[in-house]
Amino acid sequence: LSDEAQSVLDEIEEHNVDFLRLQFTDILGTVKNVSITADQAEKAFSEGIYFDGSSIDGFVRIQESDMRLEPDPETFAVLPWRENVEGGSSARLICDVFDTSTGQPFSGDPRGVLKRAIDRADEMGYTVNAAPEPEFFLFEEDEDGRATTKTNDAGGYFDLAPKDLASDVRRDIIYGLEEMDFDIEASHHEVAQGQHEINFTYDDALSTADNVATFRSVVRAIAAEHDLHATFMPKPIARINGSGMHTHMSLFTEDGENAFHDDDDEFNLSETAKSFTAGILEHAPAITAVANPTVNSYKRLVPGYEAPVYVAWSDRNRSALIRKPAARTPAASRVELRSPDPSCNPYLMFAAMIHAGLDGIEQDLECEDPVRENIYEFDEEKREEYGIQTLPSNLGEAIDALEADETVQDALGEHVYENFVEAKRQEFQEYLVDVSEWELDQYLEKF
Ligand code: GLU
Ligand code: MG
Ligand code: MG
Repeated sequence: LSDEAQSVLDEIEEHNVDFLRLQFTDILGTVKNVSITADQAEKAFSEGIYFDGSSIDGFVRIQESDMRLEPDPETFAVLPWRENVEGGSSARLICDVFDTSTGQPFSGDPRGVLKRAIDRADEMGYTVNAAPEPEFFLFEEDEDGRATTKTNDAGGYFDLAPKDLASDVRRDIIYGLEEMDFDIEASHHEVAQGQHEINFTYDDALSTADNVATFRSVVRAIAAEHDLHATFMPKPIARINGSGMHTHMSLFTEDGENAFHDDDDEFNLSETAKSFTAGILEHAPAITAVANPTVNSYKRLVPGYEAPVYVAWSDRNRSALIRKPAARTPAASRVELRSPDPSCNPYLMFAAMIHAGLDGIEQDLECEDPVRENIYEFDEEKREEYGIQTLPSNLGEAIDALEADETVQDALGEHVYENFVEAKRQEFQEYLVDVSEWELDQYLEKF
């Protein structure tokens, strides 16, 4: 066993862990668990754990269903909310998925897709840092314990208790995350009632994606202890702000310098950062399919609610797709992509962003000047004058954009790309033939 694996075995002992959840995600970003007893940990590290992949979305066809999970010892974390009956605890380990017929990393494993993107950056001499800002709503449960869309507080942006009644829930959530070694930079009440945001401190892209994958279940589990339902649905309530997951990214060089920082630039952004930005802008429509993968995602990407609609960057305003946040130190120079929402698969979204940005660097793409006006207020003519494209306006258009963009397809790899498109086309088709409450309200009595 490696030293890391050995030290996980020691920690299992020390924390009295009975059960290990071996986690991985399917293509749609749903976290899957295979639970093993702690005494199998050694075997899991030395041989891996075999499972049948045929029942996992988009994983494999039935005839080639044997997969092997290899836990990554760096991802060991004791789950804070789960005291077992006998007083023992449970822990998670995030796994890489291997194809048993070839012994190779399985091409349908989203974590492997992100690792490939990170390797490309590494070959170019960079490490990738990422920091997401997931937003979510806390809603009350009804008598049967089912989620409602009723909020338990009347707070607004950055309100403090007692108006922010949920602040103790948020505090518990943060304690829980910190127990799991998450580095939380800040948290606050968001614009809408019942809406919250928790900001991660930046870390390498793989650890961050692992944490995002776990984050949703941690938040939901701790909210449930307060009889609240946490939802990461992008737009649970029409006509108020939705929930985004802005993602900050920067590249560091091998000697630990921030390759995105330039003291002499007006925006403190290096040419590398600007080409990276230009790459993301160029591939923005296709990235949208991955960053905003649900029908509901597109109810958020509309003008007026601080969510992006237009493909442009800015050093100030929040209507742009990419923002250059004010940075206090050179290490903090970074770009913020504002389109992603927390329903996305973080591994695939990061991978798409990284490849698009690296593509911009490889091609030396140049960035236009930032747009400093409120783009929501531009009319079509003005947008044309500035050359500003719009993001896809629904899931169908986003899939079309993905089908037209080889860079983002390559970022996903053939297996993931094909299964993703198939699943999303079907989802969009189901939505198109559905009859919504809005239609009944509008037409049932009128016609
Ligand atoms: N909730 C907004 C969104 O949908 C973002 C608000 C903010 O700037 O943090 O992206
Ligand atoms: Mg926010
Ligand atoms: Mg932000």
